[in-house]
Amino acid sequence: MKVNFGGTVPISTIDWYGKVSIVIFFRKCPLICPYCQNYKLLEDDNLVDIQEIESEIEKAKDFVNAVVFSGGEPTMQFEQIKSLAGFAKRYKLLVGIETNGCYPERLRELIEQNLVDKIFLDVKAPLSDPELYSKVIGDDGAKATSLVKKSLEICKDFLEVRTTVFKGLVFKKEHIKAIAEDIPDVTYVIRQGIPEQGSNEELKQYGPPSRDELVDLAKVARQFLSNVIIRTNEFGEEVIT
Ligand code: SF4
Repeated sequence: MKVNFGGTVPISTIDWYGKVSIVIFFRKCPLICPYCQNYKLLEDDNLVDIQEIESEIEKAKDFVNAVVFSGGEPTMQFEQIKSLAGFAKRYKLLVGIETNGCYPERLRELIEQNLVDKIFLDVKAPLSDPELYSKVIGDDGAKATSLVKKSLEICKDFLEVRTTVFKGLVFKKEHIKAIAEDIPDVTYVIRQGIPEQGSNEELKQYGPPSRDELVDLAKVARQFLSNVIIRTNEFGEEVIT
């Protein structure tokens, strides 16, 4: 089996809070978020034998306790993900998936087959605002919000929800309030969007939100959720009480 492979980070402590992971990137995504920092993974193909990825997992297995599949959108390569998750499980590694939530039935199948332990689900904008969602994903926001809602429901026992905030896009307190109201009471991570890492010139003029601005947003989310974390380049992860 071939994998459209984007690369690995052999050891990461930031993709899964409290775990040491190998992160494996898959190419291609159904969305076109203007801020995508992995936009190069959405363009070309790089087909490799699945055994190459298995070998990366084998090399890392004594130094990590988890494998995180990222992208792109990893669940687009569904057979490959199932096979690699099963391979990781044979070494007693935990499996996490970073996803935009556009394939809820695939997430359901992974859960039902005990192939995943954590689902890091992007809620990119208020689910009650399909128009804004369209702007954030560069695609049909009504369809995406409906799929993400379904993913939230299916994955509720396995979830960490994430929103990456960018000035000029999703940055207002009312946006975060609406998201916090829409999601279950799971860990919610507000991430500092770095427009310089993406390709969109318009967003670059705003620069990244500051740590203090993220704290203010997190405090809004804390009114609805028990566990809210911010993640910034400068300070890493901080739990906001
Ligand atoms: S969903 Fe993620 S990988 Fe896909 S375009 Fe958006 S930011 Fe990039």
